[in-house]
Amino acid sequence: MSDLTGKSIVITGAAMGLGQAAAQVCAANGASLTLVDFNEKALNETAADIRNAHPDAQITTVLADVSNEEAVKKYVAAAMNAYGRIDGFYNNAGIEGKQAPMAEYDLAVFEKVIDINLMGVYYGLRHILPIMVKQSYGRIVNVASVGGIRGVLHQTPYVASKHAVSGMTKTAALEYAKHGITTNAIAPGAILTPMVAGAFQQMNPSDPKAAETEYAKDNPSKRLGLPVEVANVVAFLLSDDCSYVNGQTIAIDGGQSNAY
Ligand code: NAD
Repeated sequence: MSDLTGKSIVITGAAMGLGQAAAQVCAANGASLTLVDFNEKALNETAADIRNAHPDAQITTVLADVSNEEAVKKYVAAAMNAYGRIDGFYNNAGIEGKQAPMAEYDLAVFEKVIDINLMGVYYGLRHILPIMVKQSYGRIVNVASVGGIRGVLHQTPYVASKHAVSGMTKTAALEYAKHGITTNAIAPGAILTPMVAGAFQQMNPSDPKAAETEYAKDNPSKRLGLPVEVANVVAFLLSDDCSYVNGQTIAIDGGQSNAY
């Protein structure tokens, strides 16, 4: 268990999936949380669940769309008002977009994926890095994907945005390590979250479970990952124990991305 006692951690996309699981693990490990999402109902439910499980946990919720820079300034200010510092940033909010061959991809969806997955991640870095520089301390975990280290059929803007996240992670590591800040990315494979359930629905609308079973066959671990298996890695990357890993994009995929 990674000790996060007293750490102020901001998590975007915290209402569901990987962000929600990380919020639960970080609260269990002692962190004070700023939970950001644009789904108000799910965000409030997640915060209530965590308060039930950890009555002493400090939780601030902020309704914000990460692709809007003014909204990003708002969640950063809320975290600073609540806790006076930001020790850790889980820059997680993202969408998959629709699946379509490259030349036929809907441009409006393309732009939306880039706005959220690339610009949203950048706005977060842009407004949190200066705070971490002042503190001479910070731990950042950006969310890429196996689609940030490999090509993926029919997901052009997703793959482009996730490669960009991996690239920004390397540059942030180079520019900010001297300020006591580490910046890493994670590259999850298929993890059972609402987003991935939506992808299987697109692959096989009449039988999404069959698409999931078919997909898992190719994984050396013969199963999909669970959100908590990602959250435990994130908690470590956000902790003091992880002090000399920097600029890495770490696959969390049961080994699948090693296959040729
Ligand atoms: P999810 O859809 O289950 O949850 C995403 C959360 O982010 C939701 O609560 C949603 O409301 C929120 N969100 C989306 N766009 C937002 C915006 N513009 N502003 C604020 N909140 C927003 O997805 P997930 O599977 O948990 O994915 C989380 C991250 O992990 C994404 O960046 C995704 O690309 C990445 N990822 C997931 C997988 C996987 O297998 N689940 C694999 C690789 C990468």
